[in-house]
Amino acid sequence: MIAPRISLIFALLATLLSSVPYRTVALAAATENIAPPADPQITAALADISAQRIQANIEKLVSFQTRLTLSAQDPDSIKAGHGIGAAREWIKAEFESYSRACGGCLEVKTDSFTENPADRIPKPTAITNIYAVLNGTDPENAKRIVLVTGHYDSRNGDTLDATGIAPGANDDGSGTAVSLECARVLSKLKFPGTIIFLTVAGEEQGLNGSAHFAKMAKDQGWDIEAALNNDIVGGDRSPQQNPAIVRVFSEGVPLAATDAELRRIRNLGGENDSASRQLARYVAEVGRTYQTAAKPLVVFRLDRYLRGGDHISFNEQGYAAVRLTEYREDYNHQHQNVRTENGIEYGDVPKFVNFDYVANVARVNAATLASLASAPASPAKVRLQTKQLENDSTLTWEAAPGAASYEVLWRDTASPEWEQAKSVGNGTHTMLPLSKDNVIFAVRALDSAGHRSLPVVPQPER
Ligand SMILES: [Zn+2]
Repeated sequence: MIAPRISLIFALLATLLSSVPYRTVALAAATENIAPPADPQITAALADISAQRIQANIEKLVSFQTRLTLSAQDPDSIKAGHGIGAAREWIKAEFESYSRACGGCLEVKTDSFTENPADRIPKPTAITNIYAVLNGTDPENAKRIVLVTGHYDSRNGDTLDATGIAPGANDDGSGTAVSLECARVLSKLKFPGTIIFLTVAGEEQGLNGSAHFAKMAKDQGWDIEAALNNDIVGGDRSPQQNPAIVRVFSEGVPLAATDAELRRIRNLGGENDSASRQLARYVAEVGRTYQTAAKPLVVFRLDRYLRGGDHISFNEQGYAAVRLTEYREDYNHQHQNVRTENGIEYGDVPKFVNFDYVANVARVNAATLASLASAPASPAKVRLQTKQLENDSTLTWEAAPGAASYEVLWRDTASPEWEQAKSVGNGTHTMLPLSKDNVIFAVRALDSAGHRSLPVVPQPER
């Protein structure tokens, strides 16, 4: 009696085991199928990204000794090359040199303000964000903005230590270097949409710089379609690191959702379909299209467990924003005074940074920025018709500026990424023989060269 039972167990196990890889393979095949073709201009730009330049930029940032937001920014310190003021002036000059190289194509700007005393800000403190704008070439599409950011401030073990060494090579010299290198490489190209290359301060004191910038953008009505925050993308050289992966964190239920939106999310199972999560999926798809050496791993979480970063400032203003971070952080190498204790080296110094990895993460960013800035706007007012109960699904939307055609995407409700794409031509409605109960839909716009917009999940129309 035992033998048949064991064989039954084995049969069940075999089914279980074979079904797991099958599903993974099936999803991989489906997502490969719907990834857009590579744009040769973007492929060439990615080859231009230089690990040597990134290394030089991170070492330069470290040379300012500390970039704590509370550190020196008086003219003498700037002249001596010490403190956050000197870092700020150097970043600005770097953006300006890229602009000179492209015939003045970048507008280099600062966003300065005084932060009032708070928890980690003992006295009124001037905070300056520096950014470079590559304006879009198409009047309509130039209103659309995609943005990359990193924080150039640093800290050691004490977030109020304004004079102690705080190299911040990985946190966040790496993210600052990504913004700079994307600016250098992409400023040689032209895009219909606008790209902003941003570096912010105040992150370690409470996201102050990004909060000010995102609020300014909202107050001025900027149409920021995507914000990519790179924080700790140095690929720390610990043995457990996986340099083939970059994590992409995104909010599920939007921080800025209204009560009506929260009700709709609860009713329709929309907790995995925020605009930020569509952006995270877009980054992953771009990674497949350009076969980036650092593969984006979407993590369905706002940020790392109980922690935060500058993308949250954009989320709070209702913008789609994600955080990119190395696969495994080494806490001995961030927010630590530089020292050796019991043979263990502490501190965020350049020797722990994998510059090739930072370059690979910069390629993921540059490809995402260039793809979105090349694409038409997302279709507006995407609606799923629900006037009567039926098993087919009818979708409608408004024409997007610059769109040559549209695709409907769908996936099983339990699938993490889009699985199917169907071209539906250049009309603004379609009917699919699929039940809206069983799948999640989205619509995206394509230009004539095949650049895809961010997908938009429909709202119900009664
Ligand atoms: Zn950081």
